[in-house]
Amino acid sequence: MNKISETLPLFANTEADLLVHNPDFEKVVSKDSNAQSQWEKCLRILRDNVSSQVYNTWFTPIKPIRFYDNLLTVQVPSQFFYEWIEQHYYDLLQKTLWEIFGDKSRLQYEVVVDNSSETLDKRTINIPAFQHEPVGKQASLSFALTANEKKEVLSFLNPRYSFDNFITGESNQLASSAAKAVAGNPGGTSFNPILIYGSAGMGKTHLVQAIGNFIKAERPNVKVLYSNSERFTMEFVQSIEEKKTAEFSNFYRDIDVLIIDDIQFFKGKEKTQDNFFHTFNALHQAGKQIILTSDVSPKELSGVEERLISRFQWGLNVDIQKPELETRMAILNKKATNEGIELPYDVIQYIAQNITGSIRELEGTLISLIAKHTLDRKEININLAKEVINGMTKKEDKEFTIEDIKEIVASYYNLSLDVIESKSRKHEIALARQMCMYLAKRFTNLSLKAIGSHFGGRDHSTVLHSCTAIDNYLDTDKRVRTVYEQFYKECKNRS
Ligand code: ADP
Ligand code: MG
Repeated sequence: MNKISETLPLFANTEADLLVHNPDFEKVVSKDSNAQSQWEKCLRILRDNVSSQVYNTWFTPIKPIRFYDNLLTVQVPSQFFYEWIEQHYYDLLQKTLWEIFGDKSRLQYEVVVDNSSETLDKRTINIPAFQHEPVGKQASLSFALTANEKKEVLSFLNPRYSFDNFITGESNQLASSAAKAVAGNPGGTSFNPILIYGSAGMGKTHLVQAIGNFIKAERPNVKVLYSNSERFTMEFVQSIEEKKTAEFSNFYRDIDVLIIDDIQFFKGKEKTQDNFFHTFNALHQAGKQIILTSDVSPKELSGVEERLISRFQWGLNVDIQKPELETRMAILNKKATNEGIELPYDVIQYIAQNITGSIRELEGTLISLIAKHTLDRKEININLAKEVINGMTKKEDKEFTIEDIKEIVASYYNLSLDVIESKSRKHEIALARQMCMYLAKRFTNLSLKAIGSHFGGRDHSTVLHSCTAIDNYLDTDKRVRTVYEQFYKECKNRS
């Protein structure tokens, strides 16, 4: 099999030229193993920052080829692949590369083009990325920027998050309306602060960044800053070390719209909380808008000072809940359309019925589906959706959870997870639900209350009742006993 390299005219040398004529060839070669080991370090960082599914789909297929003259060349399977990475993981990849290869490093892709001719030539096309130089020290201390750098206001907002691409449904309606009200009149509504809470992957970051982006577009002179409690803490600590606490405080007090994501990580950091308390008061008094998110309601924020919690409650606290079926379907449809792909209705429905957790999970499933469709050239249909979903749930070293139990039981009875979690009293559905609870008690360490919470917030006595009911069936009903034995075996195999 021949391997011919082809470069775009942007790059003067073909790979062959580079290898034959480049006097620094020795250096190139000697650095190749270096590229490999350095790339592995990048992979470790990337793995910590994306879901394992995204990691496996988009990062493990990338092959480092060489690192020379600050240019890292990597090989990717297709043009689509390259575009997807650039579109979705540009920032992450850039930060990671700069961390490992230095902030002068640039990235170049080689796309393997499969000509499918007799000899199956693999051609590579080089595509440049990260063309621009790093902007100041944007990844480090905000307050340490020069006046000029500050003017550019590094708001740390990601333009990809907007109200336009935020789908609303019952689960996030209130949060979304409140967010829009704040965006239209920052500091001028009674929603100050606005605190949006809810579990991971529900769209909190999306929504608060959408507020920031909206304000920036409408009011270019308003200073918007997006940060999170960890960065705030890190900068605060550094300001102490560098004896620049005054600069730190001034920097934050000069912001018009301050967004702090994930305030639950202020937990236990008393000094930082103390500083944030004063920052909060100063901003609030000056009529500046404060926007916060947390993974729990303020009342449940443990390790956070009472006086801060009471401040958080001054304005509006609004939660985002798990999206209901229709919203999940709308989200899938919209995201696929944005990628230029039309999903058949039954596929949308199938995915939405089976992926009932966070929106991040939904996105992950869609990404895998599109990847399989584009990279493996498979038609998008229910079978492909099943393949993707099964592939996701059968990860080797994955912990066996109540969700796995639900899937085992749901697929046996041919019910969707939604239905199992619903309040339906239909015999078969109730039996399936009780079976799940019974198996969960056997195969997980969850308390009865915790098990109940996985079934639409049922209380512990309901779970107990379900377990007793199954016990009775096992004594008296042969069919239930046979099914149970099957489930038992499967759970045992997978746990
Ligand atoms: P959280 O901050 O609550 O953990 P994110 O805001 O990071 O969640 O959302 C996870 C992913 O799901 C993001 O890619 C986001 O764009 C997407 N997402 C969440 N909610 C919605 C929604 N209502 N409409 C469209 N996309 C959404
Ligand atoms: Mg978030």
